[in-house]
Amino acid sequence: MKVGTGKTDVTDAVGAPAPLSLPRWSDQLPTPDPRALAYLVIGLGEDGPALAAQWAGRLNMPCTMLTGDRFSDVDAAVSAALDRLLVGHRVCAIGPEADLLLIASRLDAAGLIEAEYAMCATSTSDLTVYCVHCSATTRTAARTGDIVICSGCRRHLYIDAHVSRLRGGYLGTDAYAQELR
Ligand SMILES: [Zn+2]
Repeated sequence: MKVGTGKTDVTDAVGAPAPLSLPRWSDQLPTPDPRALAYLVIGLGEDGPALAAQWAGRLNMPCTMLTGDRFSDVDAAVSAALDRLLVGHRVCAIGPEADLLLIASRLDAAGLIEAEYAMCATSTSDLTVYCVHCSATTRTAARTGDIVICSGCRRHLYIDAHVSRLRGGYLGTDAYAQELR
């Protein structure tokens, strides 16, 4: 995708296009912020809940734990917890990258800055694809450049190498509409 800004696209210049908007989350458990007054700890996926419980067990401050298989399991609870968040509170989320992206979009929307939360990715095998046509999100083991069926509108979506922080997923656009251009 070319945008007429007149700026040199560095990634094109070196021939290695990269998903510049993809956050790089550590696969290491974060160090608790010693200045935190309280923590919201979220553990998701296969390993996330146990790791989150271990991690929270070492905190010497008040802590709220939320765990589930997927972000959708804790979506409402996360929103409620964010409503009660005060200055000095921190968030730690441990789980699959696809869920962390959705959590980060909620934290960003709630006005948290990156210094206020820490993420640990336990797996990168799945992607969340955000459909630009119907706004549904689709979880898939496909990779960027692949085509996946939208869970909402059933379009064939081309998975762009661009992550929307706002939407919490990779952008998916109609694969056949692209061919017609
Ligand atoms: Zn769709």
